[in-house]
Amino acid sequence: KEELNIIQGALELRTKTVEDVLTPLGDCFMLASDALLDFNTMTEVMQSGYTRIPVYENERSNIVDILFVKDLAFVDPNDCTPLKTVTQFYRHPLHCVFNDTKLDAMLEEFKKGKSHLAIVQRVNNEGEGDPFYEVMGIVTLEDVIEEIIKSEILDE
Ligand code: ADP
Repeated sequence: KEELNIIQGALELRTKTVEDVLTPLGDCFMLASDALLDFNTMTEVMQSGYTRIPVYENERSNIVDILFVKDLAFVDPNDCTPLKTVTQFYRHPLHCVFNDTKLDAMLEEFKKGKSHLAIVQRVNNEGEGDPFYEVMGIVTLEDVIEEIIKSEILDE
């Protein structure tokens, strides 16, 4: 039964898209780019349990950076270092994909290994104005793998 599930999950990679498995922007744990890495913020980051944290400027849909929790290894909360100092030092590349990217293509991208987290955007052409790119959420390698094995991966 489990094997059948996995085979079915693998077959569905060709039809399902990142939109089907993403974590919506509203559920993302993120930091504002002007945040200070004081004791409070660093505690929040640690308690969130995530390893990668999108950083936004002004509004949550405007993701400008990614902070890795390991980037904080040399940061002393007593220094209240601006988050920008850290993100500008590491400059992790942002990886964006469109909402209709198929999961098999996404898996190939992730396998190339640049980053195991991608920002999902779509073209919004509803309404009067010009179409614009709209961030929908984030997708990680784990979201794709879960789709293959069809069960939740519980974090350590
Ligand atoms: P982590 O290594 O941080 O546990 P994973 O890549 O294992 O992250 O992903 C686990 C789940 O958490 C996935 O569903 C992913 O979309 C989601 N996720 C990853 N980072 C964040 C974040 N900063 N905020 C909210 N959800 C996240």
